[in-house]
Amino acid sequence: MKRNLVWLRTDLRLRDNSALHAAAERGPVIALYLLSPGQWRQHDDAASKVDFWLRNLQELRAGLDALNIPLLIRTVDHWSDAASAIATLCGQLDIETVHVNEEYGVNEATRDAAVEKALDQCGVRLRNHLDQLFFTPGTILTKGGTYFQVYSQFRKVCYERLNLGVPSLLPTPRAQAKLDIRSDEIPRQVEGFDTPAPALREEWPAGEEAAHERVELFVDEILKTYQETRDLPARDGTSRLSPYLAAGVLSSRQCLHAALANNHGEFETGNSGAVSWINELLWREFYKHILVGFPRVSRHRAFREDTERLKWRHDKSDLAAWQQGRTGFPIIDAAMRQLLATGWMHNRLRMVVAMFLTKNLLIDWREGERWFMRHLIDGDLAANNGGWQWSASTGTDAAPYFRIFNPVSQSERFDPDGRFIRRWVPELAGVEGRAVHDPSKLGLFGAEGYPQPMCDLSATRERALEAFKNLTIGR
Ligand code: FAD
Repeated sequence: MKRNLVWLRTDLRLRDNSALHAAAERGPVIALYLLSPGQWRQHDDAASKVDFWLRNLQELRAGLDALNIPLLIRTVDHWSDAASAIATLCGQLDIETVHVNEEYGVNEATRDAAVEKALDQCGVRLRNHLDQLFFTPGTILTKGGTYFQVYSQFRKVCYERLNLGVPSLLPTPRAQAKLDIRSDEIPRQVEGFDTPAPALREEWPAGEEAAHERVELFVDEILKTYQETRDLPARDGTSRLSPYLAAGVLSSRQCLHAALANNHGEFETGNSGAVSWINELLWREFYKHILVGFPRVSRHRAFREDTERLKWRHDKSDLAAWQQGRTGFPIIDAAMRQLLATGWMHNRLRMVVAMFLTKNLLIDWREGERWFMRHLIDGDLAANNGGWQWSASTGTDAAPYFRIFNPVSQSERFDPDGRFIRRWVPELAGVEGRAVHDPSKLGLFGAEGYPQPMCDLSATRERALEAFKNLTIGR
């Protein structure tokens, strides 16, 4: 009997996995995962993210073994070598069809097209499945047949589609008869990607069980107040599921179903926390559609092409101060240190630090995008690029350039008692009251080891406004 290969990528789970489910329906399945360290480096994938993939692969291997599905590991340094590696393997294993879940992005599309061509030449079919998203990019379009550029309009059409039917969940495959193939060992580490500190690993336990435990805790205890708590970084007020979604340990369909189950099946009405959380899942969806509709963003080009003319500052020492959390603005420093220590940053603070870099420091958003990608355990090209271009006012449906967050007021508003700051900036742990938001006012810097503010917020704000105004004048 001919066999099926499921080539796993960012879909490291057994449950509700479209490609795995389809492959298992058709006959004996073998699973494959490709280690591509050169490609990962080219994509600036963080060491913590690669480690998270490996840890999840360990868990997945145990789950697949229980179903008698062997998991093979092969290494191709770059995706350009994927086609020949997979074609060879298919010949060796007598594979009829290769199943994959669609991935979005220019390099992913080029890789998959090459694989399809190579397989076709050997008489093997490649079958793509929709899995990462609710809707295939290109099926949510304006009346004029173009991709939406405004999130709220995109969301409206998504709601209309969801009203017609919510994508259903797929069952875990049943155990198959044993094959004469053994699973490969999962490496503990890939050269060039350091193993993160134990605390970071503990913060993000691997495996579907861990992901679903977090889903349950979130929907039972946090979802109803999400609307109020989602902007408060000192609180456990968001799902913190992004690493699991990015690695595909969890599907967005599973998240949607969990939210609907807690909101009487409603997504537009009912509990405001559930509605607002589903809207975040749709932001994720929106940015992935943008990636496909406007491939230039996948190549690190600005969505708003006129902003390519912005005169960014190239200041290495300012950039380093931002990267290391030594700006002298406590909320920025706390956030940047949270990123370095945990591989994750709260959404409100991602916006605040991104605006500070691109507006107050007038440093190119691509520098920030790269730094985030190199450190985020949930690094995702579409969401990261979308978030950076939103903050830099170069993107689709972006913040207008004149709406520049003031980090001190953001700090006072969203970390009112300074709990988040004191946790991540120990130099300020003893500073009492609201002075923690702007210790320079008390002369509390230098001697205590905490730096002075690196810039004047209003002067740098004016500088950014000028730079953006000049763009329109020069048009
Ligand atoms: P929740 O608030 O619980 O939201 C649930 C899920 O919805 C998230 O896990 C995520 O998958 C999705 N989501 C939420 N907000 C957004 C958003 N604005 N855009 C796209 N998807 C969203 N998210 C990433 O997953 N990877 C990134 O690399 C990334 N980089 C970002 C960079 C910047 C500059 C900004 C402003 C945002 C970025 N985001 C990114 C979006 C967002 O900050 C994170 O998804 C969120 O903080 C993850 O925390 P959570 O799982 O608790 O989110």
